Amino acid sequence: MTATGPQRHSTQQLIAIAAQMIATKQTKSGVVADVGAAVVSTDGDVYTGVCVGTDSNTICAERTAIATMIGASQSYLVHTVVAVWKDEDGAIYVIPPCGHCRQFIADMHPDNITVTQVILSHDVVVPLSALLPYYDWWAKQPDRTSV
Ligand SMILES: [Zn+2]
Repeated sequence: MTATGPQRHSTQQLIAIAAQMIATKQTKSGVVADVGAAVVSTDGDVYTGVCVGTDSNTICAERTAIATMIGASQSYLVHTVVAVWKDEDGAIYVIPPCGHCRQFIADMHPDNITVTQVILSHDVVVPLSALLPYYDWWAKQPDRTSV
């Protein structure tokens, strides 16, 4: 797959845009910008972010990119998301969103579970629902209090 939905960029271009955000900096209490992300709104606009990690907390690049999208567009629908990391030799690795980010995207808008396309490689793109199949699973159990 070279392009998805309303976006004006191919998956390879979005991977490159996310990679351009990487500017790893070791701080006193963590690592900042070692992961970059790009998200595409349903209008086709691209927003970027970086991971910010400290000893007290970590905010993933996907979530900073989505926060930027919300601030700029007031849109909560995420059409496409990709996050990348580079090794010491500059090789780019696409990394899937962590569990926190998967749930965060699902929580941003009820349609994101089916709308959001997650780039896993230049030729592998899956809906968020494939990575988070039981996001809304609350199964009431039979009353066993009398057992
Ligand atoms: Zn994450």
